[in-house]
Amino acid sequence: MAKLSIRDLQLQGKTVFIRVDFNVPLTAGGKEITSDKRIRASLPTIQYALAQGAGVILASHLGRPKGKRNDEMSLAPVAVKLSELLKLPVAFAPDCIGAEVEAMKPAPGAVLLLENLRFHAAEEANDPAFSKQLAALADVYVNDAFGTAHRAHASTVGIIQYVSQAAAGLLMDKELEYLTKVTANPEKPSISIIGGAKVSDKIEVIQNLLKISDKLLIGGAMAYTFLKSQGLPTGKSLVEDDKLDLAKELLATSGGKLMLPIDHAVSPEFKADAGYAEVAEIPEGQMALDIGPKTIELYVAEILKSKTIIWNGPMGVFEMPPFDKGTMAVANAVATATDGGAISVVGGGDSEKAVKTAGISDRVSHVSTGGGASLEFLSGITLPGVAALTDK
Ligand code: AMP
Repeated sequence: MAKLSIRDLQLQGKTVFIRVDFNVPLTAGGKEITSDKRIRASLPTIQYALAQGAGVILASHLGRPKGKRNDEMSLAPVAVKLSELLKLPVAFAPDCIGAEVEAMKPAPGAVLLLENLRFHAAEEANDPAFSKQLAALADVYVNDAFGTAHRAHASTVGIIQYVSQAAAGLLMDKELEYLTKVTANPEKPSISIIGGAKVSDKIEVIQNLLKISDKLLIGGAMAYTFLKSQGLPTGKSLVEDDKLDLAKELLATSGGKLMLPIDHAVSPEFKADAGYAEVAEIPEGQMALDIGPKTIELYVAEILKSKTIIWNGPMGVFEMPPFDKGTMAVANAVATATDGGAISVVGGGDSEKAVKTAGISDRVSHVSTGGGASLEFLSGITLPGVAALTDK
């Protein structure tokens, strides 16, 4: 069911409560922001609400203060940065609920940033009384924090019961648009590329994507659990021995969709310069740290044939060249396929870093801002923060 978008709201003269994801990285002590990417990501939504004549209240969590005030996790530096980026004054509230905050209600065209929601344990507990107090600050609610949409907290779910309308912000809208495009009736052939450290982190994703995609390419350390489950040698490679039966079953029921590496880049140690060899079979005493050249050729050919591409997780230890070749080749193939008209969505976290390192961020259709949330979406789980929004 499609959800209300901020574009559907009448905002003139209203106070809008926008749940944003300003969980930015800070220097030790919490004084300086080291990346303002998450703040920039919500600027279009904030600017849209201001242009429509709304007074804007912004709320976010930052870090894990565990329900207690902690000055090292204050959003105060975010207010300063946001003001710079908006080129407007941004008022900063000493808390997120209470009489003092209510008295700071922003006039149309003004912005108020609330203090860290997680200074109250009631936020993560999705406490009704706390939700009601948050709702009392505003007329309408907008959620632009895709990265926390997989959590049912007071500011993402509870509050919605106490407001007249709850809509998706522009960033949230874009995330849902692209993730839906690649999972609901994707244009064929469709492919998923799953890599990373552990099978155990991505079981549900693999199971769901096997239903959606025509092919599923496996890379990263998780490939070696699959190979070992087939009785193939894996040397000192990372293997989850307690997941061998599961890997075997996934392969047996995949209908031939799952593809595994056919060769490997190996080293005797987890080091960049301890040795590098390309092998078809992993020798004893060696660990596979990347997919090999024949696998690259095979995977690239599959990617270039595809019209829909989902990518989550690196093909090897891409942070440590020369074991970045597989990941870089996949990144470039995804970019080339997208240049040729394919739709591509890259999951957050390490895949986002890989896409940046390869210099192709602008050549994929969408890079998700939410690692955990996009993995849950791709697992077929309904995100509570999305489900709670008002239906269109
Ligand atoms: P994830 O967070 O599950 O996407 O895993 C990403 C991490 O997996 C990265 O830090 C990679 O360095 C690591 N990784 C990928 N391939 C391998 C491998 N073959 N051996 C060990 N670690 C790997």
